[in-house]
Amino acid sequence: MGNKKILVVEDNPKSMRLIKFLLKHKDYHILEATEGLAALEIALAQQPDLIVMDIQLPGMSGLEVTIQLRNKKEFEKTPIIALTAYAMKGEQDKFLQAGCSDYISKPIDTRVLPLKIEYWLNVTENDND
Ligand code: MN
Repeated sequence: MGNKKILVVEDNPKSMRLIKFLLKHKDYHILEATEGLAALEIALAQQPDLIVMDIQLPGMSGLEVTIQLRNKKEFEKTPIIALTAYAMKGEQDKFLQAGCSDYISKPIDTRVLPLKIEYWLNVTENDND
């Protein structure tokens, strides 16, 4: 089956470090992007199994990246978990409408993030059976 590929899109180095730390003991292959256009390019080239997408990014926003990916056949079902700033609470319907599968509010709950990733990887896995 091979390790699951997870693309983490996050421009804040502290948050990026935290996410990688939380996933350290999992058998995931982690890809990283720190801005939207790079995220899009890496996603298209590497076809990750799941994407953790910070919404507030320099240049192209996480929402724009999500919309562009959802327009492509190979990304119709890829789980995309949005990371949203606390101030953006209440806008979460917008993220789901743009095609995000789920969202996590910042500050990141260190227990919830790994659980949500595992949950969404299982969802797609069962879907392919
Ligand atoms: Mn950000």
